[in-house]
Amino acid sequence: MDSTEIIRKEDFDVCVTRKRVRRVNLKVRAGDAAVCVSAPMGYPTSGIEAFVNEKYDWIVRNRRRVLEAAKEEARRWDEGGTVSLLGEDLTIRYQEDAQTKRAQHVERQGQSLVVHLADFLASEDRPTEAKRLVEAWLSASLGGLLPSLFERFQRETAISCAGWRVRRMKTRWGSCNTRTRVITINAQLIEYPPECLESVIVHELCHLLEPSHNARFHQLLDAYYPRNREARRILNKIPPRR
Ligand SMILES: [Zn+2]
Repeated sequence: MDSTEIIRKEDFDVCVTRKRVRRVNLKVRAGDAAVCVSAPMGYPTSGIEAFVNEKYDWIVRNRRRVLEAAKEEARRWDEGGTVSLLGEDLTIRYQEDAQTKRAQHVERQGQSLVVHLADFLASEDRPTEAKRLVEAWLSASLGGLLPSLFERFQRETAISCAGWRVRRMKTRWGSCNTRTRVITINAQLIEYPPECLESVIVHELCHLLEPSHNARFHQLLDAYYPRNREARRILNKIPPRR
């Protein structure tokens, strides 16, 4: 069974878990910057203390970085933060007027995105809840756009796919399985100008005719979606987050 012990240092606490590992391992947890150490069963506390002292400056530096990042993330979803919908910036406003958690929702009012939050929510929980609600709203907005876009571009290109799905991807804007003919679209495209989403859809459809990025592929893409180069420039400038 794992056992946990807390070592108190001047600037932070260290949470030590002893388990079936071969060596001492230390990490600063993302989000709350908790210092976590795992150590082999029976490993002496004095040895762990020495290990922590040796890494002290590194730990302090990393905790600062993690806490700054968490604050930055909270500010993004806080009142006054901005969210992009198809390249248009909307300002987040809170209204604490929902009676229950299930009644919470997001509503666009002009250039504002009003997040109706539960009136009993603690103020420090609001950004996290707003993030969840706004991300769900963004993905529903994307879901609402895709059927007509796929219908339009399949008609214009006379290329048909078997279907599509939406995923959060860290390194790609879209992908295409040429065997199943299913296209995957990066969820974050809803935040970029419409030509970005459109050009990724056409790009992936073209792969069903030409799998590689050769001259023929670019001829097809230029013919079916002339604005693809402009869209690509925007996408290259602001890569996917996370
Ligand atoms: Zn490609």
